[in-house]
Amino acid sequence: MLNLSRRTLLASVAALSLSRTDTTRADPSRHYDVIVVGGGTAGIPCALFAAQGGARVLLIEKSPALGGTLFWSTGQIAGAGTVFQQRLGITDSPDAHFDDCMRINENTADPALTRLTVDHAGDTINWLAERGFEVMAGHPVTGIGHDHFTTRRYQQGVKSGLSILEAFLPSLEASIAQQQVTLLTGTAVEGLIQERSGKIVGVTATGPSGTHDFRGSHVVLASGGCAANPRLFEDLHGVPLYAKTAYPTSQGDGLILGMSAGGAIVGGEKYASLPGLVPDAWQYPAQMHAWAPLHPMVRQPWEILVNARGERFVREDHPSVHQIERGIYRQPGHRHWAIYDADMLAKSEPIIPDWSRDRLATEHQSHPMFSRAMSLETLAFRAGINAAALKQNIDDYNRRVRQGETDRLGRTHRPMTIEKAPFYAIAMQGWTLVSFAGLSVNTNFQVLDPERRPILNLFAIGEVIGAGATSGAAYTNGMLVTPAITFGRLLGARLAKSD
Ligand SMILES: Cc1cc2nc3c(=O)[nH]c(=O)nc-3n(C[C@H](O)[C@H](O)[C@H](O)COP(=O)(O)OP(=O)(O)OC[C@H]3O[C@@H](n4cnc5c(N)ncnc54)[C@H](O)[C@@H]3O)c2cc1C
Repeated sequence: MLNLSRRTLLASVAALSLSRTDTTRADPSRHYDVIVVGGGTAGIPCALFAAQGGARVLLIEKSPALGGTLFWSTGQIAGAGTVFQQRLGITDSPDAHFDDCMRINENTADPALTRLTVDHAGDTINWLAERGFEVMAGHPVTGIGHDHFTTRRYQQGVKSGLSILEAFLPSLEASIAQQQVTLLTGTAVEGLIQERSGKIVGVTATGPSGTHDFRGSHVVLASGGCAANPRLFEDLHGVPLYAKTAYPTSQGDGLILGMSAGGAIVGGEKYASLPGLVPDAWQYPAQMHAWAPLHPMVRQPWEILVNARGERFVREDHPSVHQIERGIYRQPGHRHWAIYDADMLAKSEPIIPDWSRDRLATEHQSHPMFSRAMSLETLAFRAGINAAALKQNIDDYNRRVRQGETDRLGRTHRPMTIEKAPFYAIAMQGWTLVSFAGLSVNTNFQVLDPERRPILNLFAIGEVIGAGATSGAAYTNGMLVTPAITFGRLLGARLAKSD
């Protein structure tokens, strides 16, 4: 999911999106059919489909530019029955997509919301394709950074998330020009207007022209997750935000707005950890210094992984990277160390993509997460790992490799023993790009209270419903961007038809 060249992409398109969307003065005395809070991945298609269905729409975006997380997101999406699959003669079905998703996340995603996604995901991708969305060469594929599907249905736009934003914008501009959508940028929704009956009848928003109430028949929260808000994130997940990698606007405003109206928060327990982030320091939230995918389908492991106690804890070449992630999740502080020796450094592909062997060998001179020593005991001391246990675990690993015995954790890719000094350790941290907790919704996207009763006229789509809803306790290929766009389309069209 990580978009490593996001700064370059951000620079190239920020100007584009700013110049192509105008801020119109919204009339507080006017009644809107649909008010959409957040002009990102989910909010833009929702506003568009509502407008195209005949609704008067007010789209309110806190940032100066539309797009939200699409500026950073890799935008990898999945769907069955797409034009991109047809091009390659791939046959597929929503049922097969559903089964793959639930297999990958071990049945932890909401089955009804997953079903709704996969049933409409092909249409979503074809709709994007009609608007110029083009995929990378060789796509769709079965997988990239997470556990693979059994069929090629997963794709990334040639400009990552920006390919999706570029497909959205011309239609939105047309709707704005036809006055079907009123757009307010640089305007933050700060409150929901709720009647005594519990019904939502509008929002309070602050922008360049001050604070105003806007009345509407339906309010849609599409303001993203909370993985850029360390305090809220930890409150809702019970896990610190170990690294700050989410888009900065992911402050959880919609979760707070939804809670203020009586909405229930669900899914925090589904928190799932990505592997291999090398933090800038042992501080929370850390910044990413480097990243090692630790994905056996990307690179078979040469090194071993240990925890602070010096123990190996997971089969490093497990065919499921999700299982490696779960193993890391079970370690104190989700910390893990990759340990390797001089021969491994010389012979293997660098564990950090795009790094040279030289850099891996010398980074310890300038960075605290990298250690090097002539003995395992000194290495353990420098890296902050239990030395006796590290030595014992490596002795056991080496002995089994030499004698051709089965590995203690079932690892089969064991190209060599760890015995040639100097020895190296890289300290790594489990991390997340997204928040798993979110507002409880039903398949009509109505926000639900703790008794699962709908809060009238209040809806939520996108990451504000929590990654746990559609991705489960795992990183399931495309199961955030795909449902965000799909639910935006479905909800916008439905709201245009309702009173
Ligand atoms: C680096 C990275 C890579 C990723 N890669 C993938 C991937 O490949 N595939 C995948 O499925 N998922 C991926 N994800 C996750 C996915 O991109 C997000 O979950 C999804 O884009 C969120 O969409 P959204 O509409 O909920 O939020 P956003 O797209 O962030 O939109 C929310 C909008 O609401 C606005 N807003 C916030 N508060 C307010 C307020 N109070 N008033 C008005 N507006 C407000 C924000 O400014 C923002 O524009 C990735 C995430 C990251 C960070």
